[in-house]
Amino acid sequence: MKRQCAWCGKGMGQVNSPIKSTSQEISHGICSTCEFHMRASSSTMELNEYIEDFPHPIVIADNNRIIINANKLARVALRKDFSPVNKLPAGKVFECKNAHLPGGCGKTVQCGTCKLRKLIMDTFNSDKQFLDELIILDQTPNANDSSRALKMSVSSLKIEGVVYLKILYL
Ligand SMILES: [Zn+2]
Repeated sequence: MKRQCAWCGKGMGQVNSPIKSTSQEISHGICSTCEFHMRASSSTMELNEYIEDFPHPIVIADNNRIIINANKLARVALRKDFSPVNKLPAGKVFECKNAHLPGGCGKTVQCGTCKLRKLIMDTFNSDKQFLDELIILDQTPNANDSSRALKMSVSSLKIEGVVYLKILYL
C-alpha cells in the first residue's frame, strides 16, 4: 500500500498492509516535514513560509472554533486577503449565513447541526485525523443577501493544541 501525506501530497513510501491488495491504495497521514512545520507554526501562532505557501487553503482554529490563522490561499479563497481573519469565529470567516443570526456563530439553533463546528470539535476532542469530510454551509456575506451553498472537502488534524483544516473547494 502506498502512503501519501494528506497535507502536502508527497509520497511517503510503501507501508505493509495486513490485507493483500493489488490496487494502488493510499493511506493518508502526515509527513515529517509537514509535522515539523505545523508544530513550529502552532507554538508561535505565526504561519511559517512552508504552510503559508501550501498548495491548498489551510485554516487553523482553536477549541472554541475561533480562527487563529489562515494561509495565503485560504485568505484569497475567503476573500479576506486584505482584512484580518485572526480571532474571528469560523462562521464569520466562512461567511456562514447563520453567523448573522442573533447569538452569532456557534450559538444559534442551527449550529447544533453544523458539520464544520462538529469536525473542529471532534478533531479537538478525539485527537484523530479526519480525511475529506464533506461540509456544506450556506454562505452569505451580508445578512440580507441570498445565500449560496459552499461545498468543501475538509481534512483535519490536531497538533500542539490547535486544529489544522485543509480545505478543498468543490
Ligand atoms: Zn507532507
